[in-house]
Amino acid sequence: SKAKGRGMFQYFEAGMNEAAQQRLLLENALRLAIEQEEFRLYYQPKADCSLRVIGAEALVRWQRPGFGMIPPDRFIALAEETALIIPLGTWILKTACLQAKLWADKQPGFRTAINLSPRQLLADDFIAVLDRILAETGTKPEWIELEVTENLIMLDVEKATRRLRQVRERGIHVAMDDFGTGYSSLSCLQKLPLQTLKIDRSFIQAYTGDPASKEAAFIKTIVSLGEILKMTVVAEGVETESQLALLRSYGCHLIQGYYLSPPLPADEFQRRWLDQAMD
Ligand code: C2E
Ligand code: CA
Ligand code: CA
Ligand code: CA
Repeated sequence: SKAKGRGMFQYFEAGMNEAAQQRLLLENALRLAIEQEEFRLYYQPKADCSLRVIGAEALVRWQRPGFGMIPPDRFIALAEETALIIPLGTWILKTACLQAKLWADKQPGFRTAINLSPRQLLADDFIAVLDRILAETGTKPEWIELEVTENLIMLDVEKATRRLRQVRERGIHVAMDDFGTGYSSLSCLQKLPLQTLKIDRSFIQAYTGDPASKEAAFIKTIVSLGEILKMTVVAEGVETESQLALLRSYGCHLIQGYYLSPPLPADEFQRRWLDQAMD
């Protein structure tokens, strides 16, 4: 009936208002959280197929008082929409660089990867901010790697390519994150100054143990593609022995995932993956 329809509409509208209100509340909380530095970086190891740890990926969490630990999927998109990702991303870059320096000192060759948001990379002053942070923290470019997604690049191919060239000119490695889930073409992949290809974890997780399956062939194809492009290939989301065995048999260079370790606070990461390796 019509009355019922209107009731539904009002309900829906009220629901939308509530969603908008929630969003505003979250935005304000996020703004405050950036000022008060309520964020923490966790680090997940990257290892070769013999499980020797050669680096880490920094992953941000929001330690929100009264709410516990909020994962990035719940606030990065909003931070991106509201441009709060600019100050947050600068904090992440600086904090990860300080960590990268400590760990590269402990283990020569150790590299810390940092995720970049589209808005961050495309901001006019990104390169200036990057140079300033490298100088301020005393970080050598080879101690860090920047992870970007295909979708970031497709937003503005020309500009993204120019920026990535500038990053590359400084000697910083660039990784294509979540490869296989976005919209970039193979020709685009070939033109970009990339050193690393990260196979999206959905491909790894689709593999259930049959090496003759099409899921296995997919993984093999991406590893070969990386090889052809002379890129380091990383498989993310490796959770099982059989996934590791498959990747090893294909000659995938590096793995990352719960099989080896979840992301850990810096001190725990160091205790587990760096101090012990020294003994
Ligand atoms: P991502 O860059 O693809 O990061 C990998 C995500 O997979 C992380 O989730 C990690 O905890 C999770 N993961 C690692 N190993 C496994 C595994 O074996 N199985 C499964 N199921 N998951 C695994 P997290 O930390 O929740 O981060 C989610 C996303 O948020 C990241 O995806 C990245 O896109 C974004 N993000 C995280 N930290 C930052 C940051 O500092 N800056 C920006 N711009 N984005 C970030
Ligand atoms: Ca990443
Ligand atoms: Ca990824
Ligand atoms: Ca992802």
